[in-house]
Amino acid sequence: MGASPEPEQPNDADGLLLDFVRDRDTACPRCGYNVRNLTKPICPECEEPLVLKVGGRSYPIRWLLATVAPGIFTGIMAGVMAVIFLIVGPPPAVPLGAILTGWFFVTSAAVAGAIILWSRRFIRQPQPRQVMWVVLVWVIHLCAFFIFLSYALP
Ligand SMILES: [Zn+2]
Repeated sequence: MGASPEPEQPNDADGLLLDFVRDRDTACPRCGYNVRNLTKPICPECEEPLVLKVGGRSYPIRWLLATVAPGIFTGIMAGVMAVIFLIVGPPPAVPLGAILTGWFFVTSAAVAGAIILWSRRFIRQPQPRQVMWVVLVWVIHLCAFFIFLSYALP
């Protein structure tokens, strides 16, 4: 009563490990040696001490990368344009299209930055929702690109 449970119970853990590898092909994480039917919690090949662990499911980041890729690109473009303006100075008359493009680049980069900042939350979303973000971001950027082209081309 009142005694806190021991956080580590090496004998139980070792027993569970030996139970786990009994009659089961399992590779040593260090050398790849098959530690099936181990009798001690140590790899007989490389002498790595072995433990049984609970693993978390790994979350793929491909949808996150696909979502922030256009924003990273526009961020780089905005940075390059800012440096050029700092070096040669802004042009005397900036057309409205260029102002809107610059505004779009900065906003896009800021949104991508926010998504990167909250990337853990993004990755925990169900996959269909992540794909929805990818589609939404790419549709917006492709539309902006074609609007930009229609103004830039004579
Ligand atoms: Zn080993």
